[in-house]
Amino acid sequence: MIEEKFDAIVIGAGMSGNAAAYTMASQGLKVLQLERGEYPGSKNVQGAIMYANMLEKIIPDFRDDAPLERHLVEQRLWVMDDTSHTGIHYRSDDFNEAKPNRYTIIRAQFDKWFSRKVREAGATVLCETTVTELVRDAKDRVVGVRTDRAGGAIFADVVVLAEGVSGLLGPRAGLREIPKPQTVALAVKEMHFLPEEVIEQRFGLKGDEGCVIEAVGTTSRGMAGLGFLYTNKESISLGIGCLVSDFAAMMESPYVLLDALKNHPSIRPLIAGSEVKEYAAHLIPEGGYKAIPQLFGDGWVVVGDAAQLNNAVHREGSNLAMTSGRIAAEAIVKVKSRNGPMTKRNLALYKAMLDKSFVVKDLRKYKDMPALLHTNSCNFFATYPRLMSQAAQNFMRVDGTPKIEKEKATTAAFIKARSRWGLVSDAVRLAFAWR
Ligand SMILES: Cc1cc2nc3c(=O)[nH]c(=O)nc-3n(C[C@H](O)[C@H](O)[C@H](O)COP(=O)(O)OP(=O)(O)OC[C@H]3O[C@@H](n4cnc5c(N)ncnc54)[C@H](O)[C@@H]3O)c2cc1C
Repeated sequence: MIEEKFDAIVIGAGMSGNAAAYTMASQGLKVLQLERGEYPGSKNVQGAIMYANMLEKIIPDFRDDAPLERHLVEQRLWVMDDTSHTGIHYRSDDFNEAKPNRYTIIRAQFDKWFSRKVREAGATVLCETTVTELVRDAKDRVVGVRTDRAGGAIFADVVVLAEGVSGLLGPRAGLREIPKPQTVALAVKEMHFLPEEVIEQRFGLKGDEGCVIEAVGTTSRGMAGLGFLYTNKESISLGIGCLVSDFAAMMESPYVLLDALKNHPSIRPLIAGSEVKEYAAHLIPEGGYKAIPQLFGDGWVVVGDAAQLNNAVHREGSNLAMTSGRIAAEAIVKVKSRNGPMTKRNLALYKAMLDKSFVVKDLRKYKDMPALLHTNSCNFFATYPRLMSQAAQNFMRVDGTPKIEKEKATTAAFIKARSRWGLVSDAVRLAFAWR
C-alpha cells in the first residue's frame, strides 16, 4: 500500500468527499481520496436535483463539461389520494437563463465527472478501497486510516469523513452515533427509460428543459413520506421514501409503496411504455438540526450526509454535502497555511464557518420540523389528502346542489374527520413548522 504521508485523507467520493478533495487539492494540499465503490458514484443514489450555486462555488465553469440532464423550468407539488391529485404548479420561462439554477443529474455519471476534476486538481483517488478503521495515536488523535488492501496504515494530518449516511467508521470509532430509525428515511427509486421526444411531449418541454413532481399523500399509506418524479434527458427517475421507524411500525415495505405510486392514475400515463433499467434503495438523513453530531475533533472532520447535513423539508442534500465538504476543506487549508496542527481546537474553525453558512441556518430554522411531521403524521399524509380531494370534487361537480350546501358539506366532512379542536391544533402545528 501507500507509504507516504498525506496532508489529508478523504473517505468517500460522493458529493461531500469530492467537494472536499477538490478544494484541498486545488489549493496545493497533498490529498488521498479512498472510495469503496468500483468507481465514484457506483454506490450513490440521488433523485436527483443538483443545485448549481453550490457547485459554482467549487468549480465555477462546471457547465462546460459536467454531465447535466435537464435544467428545471417547472415544479409541481401534488397532494394525492388514491385516485386524484390536488396540485400547485410553478413554471417560468425565467428559468431558461444563461446559467440555470437547478439541474437533474444521474449520479453515476456526475460523480465520475466530479472525480475526474478531483484527479486533475492533483489528488490521488483510489477506488475499490474500503477504509476499515481510523488509526489513532497514543493521545487518541486520528492520524490515519487502515483499508481492506494489503499493507499497513496510511497516515495524514487530517481525515475527512465523507462516508455518507450509512458510513460505519465514525460510529465504530465513537465519533458519532449510528442514525436512529426515526431520523433516517429509506427511499427507493427506479429509472424509467423513454425516448427524449416522448418525455418532452408528455411534460410540455423543449430542448433541455425539465420538470419535477413532488407528491405527498395516501401513496405513503399514512407514513411521513414523499414521492418524486424527475425528468432526465432520456429517462424519468421515480421514487418514494418514508422514515425507517414508520416502515417498521406499519410493517410496510418500500417497493410496495413504489408500486402503488407507479400505478397511481396521475403517474401511470407519465411513465407508460417505459423500460425500467435501474432500481436503487438508499437512506436519507432526516433528523434535522438536533441530529447533527460533533463535526470535528483531533485529526478529523465529518461532512455531508455522514454529519446528517440534509434538509428534508426542502429535499436538499447534495448542496449541503458539497458546501460542508468545501467549507471543511477551506478550514483545513487555513489551518495548514498558518502551520497550525490539525487539533480539535484549530478544526473548530470548520464548525464556525459552517454555522455562518445556509447549511446550519436552514437546518436550525426547521429544527422541529421532523418532529411535527413524524408525530401523528397520518393526518397530514392520509386524512387531509382525502379531504382535499373530496372538497375539490364537491366544488367542481355541478349537480344542482346549492353552493351553500356544498360549503356546509365540505366543512362538516373536515370536522367529522378531525373535530374542530383537531383542525385548529393541526393548523397551528403546521403554521409553527413553517414560521
Ligand atoms: C432517493 C434519494 C433521492 C435524493 N434526491 C436528492 C435530490 O434530488 N437533491 C439533493 O440535493 N439531494 C438528494 N438526495 C440526498 C443526496 O443524495 C445526499 O445528500 C448526498 O448524496 C450526500 O453526499 P455525501 O457525499 O455526503 O454522501 P454519499 O453521496 O452517500 O457518498 C458517500 C461515499 O462514501 C463511500 N464510502 C462509505 N464508506 C466508505 C468506506 N468505509 N471506505 C471508502 N468509501 C466509503 C460510499 O461508497 C460513497 O461513495 C437524495 C437521496 C436519496 C437517497
